[in-house]
Amino acid sequence: MNLLTIFKRFPDQEACIEYLEKVRWGASPHCPHCGAVDVARKSESERVGRWNCHACRSSFNVLAGTIFEKTKVPLQKWFLAIGLIVNAKKSLSSGQLARDLDLNQKTAWFMQQRIRAAMLTAEGDLLQGIVEVDETYVGGKPRKGNRRDDDKPGKRGRGTSKAAVVGAVERGGRVIARVADDLTGKGLLRFLLSSVRPEGTLLITDELSSYNAAGAIFQRAVINHKEAYAFGETHTNSIEGFWSLIKRSWYGSHHHYTRRFMPLFIAETCWKYNQRRNDDAFGTFMRGCFA
Ligand SMILES: [Zn+2]
Repeated sequence: MNLLTIFKRFPDQEACIEYLEKVRWGASPHCPHCGAVDVARKSESERVGRWNCHACRSSFNVLAGTIFEKTKVPLQKWFLAIGLIVNAKKSLSSGQLARDLDLNQKTAWFMQQRIRAAMLTAEGDLLQGIVEVDETYVGGKPRKGNRRDDDKPGKRGRGTSKAAVVGAVERGGRVIARVADDLTGKGLLRFLLSSVRPEGTLLITDELSSYNAAGAIFQRAVINHKEAYAFGETHTNSIEGFWSLIKRSWYGSHHHYTRRFMPLFIAETCWKYNQRRNDDAFGTFMRGCFA
């Protein structure tokens, strides 16, 4: 759904609530506290979408336990924010989101973090097949020109250090990437075991010796970048492509380096990459909120 469609389809709070109730409950609304189906819409409530549970005597609405819970921002603005975020090729700054939706910047930032957190929990199955694995460094100041040495870790300028990120891409498929505190063999193996299925997988890595530990569990092909960037199927073009997406996205919208929020930024970039062929990313996101 593009922005105009979202705007027209969800003109007010009632329309948004109706949509969310349909996504969450379908034809059988139930109490989020006790699970009972013996529920009824509040008849004379001043607030839209309020329900009573006859089993546990509580009242609730469809937003309970979701990223929209207790929000004071009109749901239409949330829907538009989600539309803007899932449709943007790169990441948006919270300042941009605030200007687009007439919100204050703090509110926009908070909404953005919540939307990203929902994307983080939707990681899905393990990767399988030909899987390219690599690590990179993101953050710090925008780099000038194409200085490769700027990709290295460590202090840059006024105490800005980059975050190490490790990622795996299934060739032609999904990506899983995370901030890596530990790029030793042990740390990389932990990441691989939590994101890649060893059976039926050919892992493609660079010559970094930290990947040797993975060789005991995964079938592995090594590309030696000093000699060539591709050897038949043995290349890391997919993950390199993903890194360049991450970097363009980061430097296009984030001018302050905040390592704390890097995992959520990465979650957003991964989620969007994984939905790149999905015509209904908005709907997928909404259904994911209740998964
Ligand atoms: Zn109940």
